[in-house]
Amino acid sequence: MAKGPKAIRGMNDVLPDVSGTWRYLESVVTGIAERYGYREIRLPIVEYTELFRRSIGEVTDIVEKEMYTFEDRNGESLTLRPEATAGMVRAGITNGLLHNQRQKLWTAGPMFRYEKPQKGRYRQFYQFDVEALGFEGPDVDAELIVMSARIWAELGISRLTLEINSLGAPEARATYRDALVEYFERAKSELDEDSLRRLDSNPLRILDSKNPAMQDLIAAAPVMLDYLDDASRQHFDELRRLLDAADVAYTVNPRLVRGLDYYSRTVFEWVTDALGSQGAVCSGGRYDGLVEKLGGRPTPAIGWAMGIERFVALYETCGGKAPAVDPDVYVAALGEGTLEKAMVIAESLRDAMPDLGVELNLGGGSFKAQMKRADRSGADYALVLGESELAESAIGLKPLRSKDDQVSVAFDELAQVLAQKLGRT
Ligand code: ATP
Ligand code: MG
Repeated sequence: MAKGPKAIRGMNDVLPDVSGTWRYLESVVTGIAERYGYREIRLPIVEYTELFRRSIGEVTDIVEKEMYTFEDRNGESLTLRPEATAGMVRAGITNGLLHNQRQKLWTAGPMFRYEKPQKGRYRQFYQFDVEALGFEGPDVDAELIVMSARIWAELGISRLTLEINSLGAPEARATYRDALVEYFERAKSELDEDSLRRLDSNPLRILDSKNPAMQDLIAAAPVMLDYLDDASRQHFDELRRLLDAADVAYTVNPRLVRGLDYYSRTVFEWVTDALGSQGAVCSGGRYDGLVEKLGGRPTPAIGWAMGIERFVALYETCGGKAPAVDPDVYVAALGEGTLEKAMVIAESLRDAMPDLGVELNLGGGSFKAQMKRADRSGADYALVLGESELAESAIGLKPLRSKDDQVSVAFDELAQVLAQKLGRT
């Protein structure tokens, strides 16, 4: 380990050898969202703690033990956002975006949760997030899922399966809640500490437990689907018909409850077995009650969030490779008066071909040293300007990725020759 300042556990640097893949995938995902009519909204990374308590729910992993909460200099309690939906809804209300309007929005950026860091689980992680506010569904439910399926398809990502469930309307869920309490009360001695506490405060959360010792008990518990209200059942059936018609395969997982309180009706999760135990790549659901709960007018809404680290890892596991971001040419200058001209040539190439990557050798060096840097840069060609070339108003064009010979190209033909060689005409 190098000496020097330490990074915070679970908060990673995204280094240049992977950031290109990140940016490529982010551009594909945002491009797809925009093709479906979603527009970007940029949100603060901090919000009042109260916002997350009220929206995510007091008795959830996030609020109970995962939030980065602190007082600002004014003594107000602020929290680094653990997820994006609460801030999105807050912004919708604050800016009057939801009044007699519908919004299809996307956002992306870092989220913060104090979790146990491990592969695929970090304390600062990135999400891409889409939300449709003011839409009752189930058409939008289906389209949001279809859109996520398109992302996998266009990137050649396989090994993901879709699980869906319905949490019904609040009244039906209350009835179900009673049934659950009755069931778990009878098995009280088998409950772990977390679940015992949740039995009173939020029994649905027991189903979300990751404790292996609890899984058999959970597997035999009553399921929400048997308690659905008629409207929610119709909503769910129609969603299934739309997914069938769109040829998106899914399994109904009646245990899928999701870790946040605000969901109602449709919930879903794309999971993979390719990344070890951190298998949820993209998850979402409907939250029809949240806008009203936070002080807006009743507004149905649905959204999903994708974890970028897991998405990138899955893309690579599936053999995906982002286009390289290397320069096309590397300009080397050797001898009296060549640097000035090399710089002018580099600038004129940048003028002539804005999509050309031109890296100029900096800090001088021998021919060998400059060629070594040229090779490492990943460029396809080196442009070599020595004193003799300068005298002839020409530059050496040296292929770096093939055995072809170096050729001499007149300054005023350089852009044209390069365009031809690189297939950019
Ligand atoms: P998990 O069950 O893995 O804890 P979650 O249900 O808490 O996931 P959500 O709150 O639904 O996750 O967040 C949406 C997505 O963000 C997840 O599907 C996952 O891809 C990603 N994600 C969540 N927490 C983390 C984390 N700590 N580190 C990296 N990615 C995460
Ligand atoms: Mg979690």
